[in-house]
Amino acid sequence: MARYTGPVCRLCRREGMKLFLKGTKCTTPKCPVEKRGFPPGQHGQARIKMSNYGLQLREKQKVKRMYGMRERQFRFFFSKAQKVKGVTGEKLLEMLERRVDNVVYRMGWATSRSEARQMVLHGWVRVNQQKVDAPAYQVRPGDTVALITSAAAAKKAKATLELTKDRTSPSWITIDAQALSGTITRLPTKTDVGMPFQESLIVELYSK
Ligand code: SF4
Repeated sequence: MARYTGPVCRLCRREGMKLFLKGTKCTTPKCPVEKRGFPPGQHGQARIKMSNYGLQLREKQKVKRMYGMRERQFRFFFSKAQKVKGVTGEKLLEMLERRVDNVVYRMGWATSRSEARQMVLHGWVRVNQQKVDAPAYQVRPGDTVALITSAAAAKKAKATLELTKDRTSPSWITIDAQALSGTITRLPTKTDVGMPFQESLIVELYSK
């Protein structure tokens, strides 16, 4: 399926929660979830009793949309999480958090994950001093993630850091704001995701 290019705020309203897709607008009272906290469309305010399948589907869509992924790639991540030792749902969230575009977003160099993805695609990101231009690249403990040493990258990152300074710093990354780099200290956990996802519903959906 093609990448969604419509208004992203509709996605948040559809899922009934903030997915932080728009950048700085997400933390202001202009956020449509705060102004109109019901699903978009003609029947948005109608009361609909959701089936079990509906609940599972919506949970999957929330997570998939927050990380800006397509169905096929999300399913691929899920099948990889199934093969890893541990609780599948938690492993899935861990793998999603370890995406390098998410790390760039968490470090505050981008206002949204889609902006972070662009920075990675444009070759602005280095992992252990090696260029990484695949947004889904998985970081590991001990890796150092840095921005290229160009005036444009530094200017943009510093301006964005100012906008994102109120965001909670991730406890699994040690950030050096001056050097525009960060070191992964441990694997992220469900708590680090900071969203009330019920990942077991995703496991139920894909296990049918
Ligand atoms: Fe979602 Fe951000 Fe739009 Fe609010 S402003 S609806 S959080 S994308």
